[in-house]
Amino acid sequence: MRKNRKTARARNSSPDADWLARSLAAVWHPCTQMQQHAAQGADALPLIPIERGEGAWLYDFSGNRYLDGVSSWWVNLFGHANPRINAALKTQLETLEHVMLAGFTHRPAIELAERLRALTDGVLGHAFYASDGASATEIALKMSFHYWKNHGKAQKNRFLCLSGSYHGETIGALAVTDVALFRDAYAPLTRAADTVPCPDARLARADETAADVARRAAQCLEAKLTTESEHIAALILEPLVQGAAGMVMYDPEYLRLARALCDRCQVHLICDEIAVGCGRTGTFFAHEQANIRPDLLCLSKGISGGYLPLSIVLCRDEIFQAFYDERTTRGFLHSHSYTGNPLACRAALATLDIFRQDDVLRANIERARKLYAALAPVAQHENVRHLRQRGMILAFDVATDDPAFPRRFYRAALENAVLTRPLGNTIYLMPPYILDDEEIAHLGAAVQRALFTTCGKK
Ligand SMILES: *Cc1c(COP(=O)(O)O)cnc(C)c1O
Repeated sequence: MRKNRKTARARNSSPDADWLARSLAAVWHPCTQMQQHAAQGADALPLIPIERGEGAWLYDFSGNRYLDGVSSWWVNLFGHANPRINAALKTQLETLEHVMLAGFTHRPAIELAERLRALTDGVLGHAFYASDGASATEIALKMSFHYWKNHGKAQKNRFLCLSGSYHGETIGALAVTDVALFRDAYAPLTRAADTVPCPDARLARADETAADVARRAAQCLEAKLTTESEHIAALILEPLVQGAAGMVMYDPEYLRLARALCDRCQVHLICDEIAVGCGRTGTFFAHEQANIRPDLLCLSKGISGGYLPLSIVLCRDEIFQAFYDERTTRGFLHSHSYTGNPLACRAALATLDIFRQDDVLRANIERARKLYAALAPVAQHENVRHLRQRGMILAFDVATDDPAFPRRFYRAALENAVLTRPLGNTIYLMPPYILDDEEIAHLGAAVQRALFTTCGKK
């Protein structure tokens, strides 16, 4: 295995050093305690200047490479500098880079809405565009509330989410996000939604299946909905896998039960597929594995192939119709400057083309099986718990008291030429859908070596 041996000290005299210093001095990095990047020694967290990407690999300025094991925050599906997406974007660039979508329309926005409608068998017939995932969450929440308001039920103005949910970090999205690290500091600014238990499959008792856990959790949802649905507009959830909570996986049975309960109690079901959509869980949409359709569907991240900021809220025609009126105030008066950006929509169309041309979902069945086989040896390690998989997401938990474990694992994986980003003590892989056998083997071996470095060979 090719190994990146460069230490933080060696980096000081490398071509990366200048970029590193300039970034630390001028860029405020996201989701980061900046001081950790300035630290030296064992606790140092390397900030890595990337010069270019190619396929599943990222290259720094001094020639080290890193296999992108997390698809650059879950967005990249078909590799960096993908020739087909590049070509589509170049053509679009020469035709129309942007035009406002209020009062105007254009081919990529129309075609993308039509293609996504077809992918939902026509059930989610209208697409509303925005630029990032958190905005899609906000749009779905506002649409749901406004729908009920237009139907004379303005008192339906509260939302339900699952424990451990993550739906973005703007103030509105934080209201339905139940991750303390992101939420607590801003709690006074939000109008927190109520949470109901997440059907986390790891909670199964000795005699229970994941479906049993789902049924147990659904009983709590039923209790909540039957007593409070008069005030609840929607239930929002991440179907099958709660990403930021630590790749928490659950049985599709919960989605079936939640769908039925929402129908019975007249509450919208919002599926946030920002992370789990676009083939990540094995089907194009995660909710398909429960044979249901949501009322509102949020997409972002992978939809543009990891190229450009784009998010989309798909809704049922019935929701669209509730806003269709002579009165402006009954309309959905929400907008973003770059709504429906033609380049982003074109990247999404090129991404959907690749799904079709390469029969990606089918190829991923085998790829996912190989990924599991490559990672399976870690389950033998005495600190490893709950090795789990749903499609192209693999995760395991590491039992350790070392508060620096996530950082140490991240570093050890980088030294073995793999980019991971532990969520607390959960290690996960969420790679692009292009890995060949050699890259899969590299990924498995690097994770195993990083585990040995951080926890010993047990
Ligand atoms: C990433 C994510 C979001 C937020 O998307 P941003 O583009 O980062 O705002 C919302 N929901 C889920 C499930 C996500 O994984």
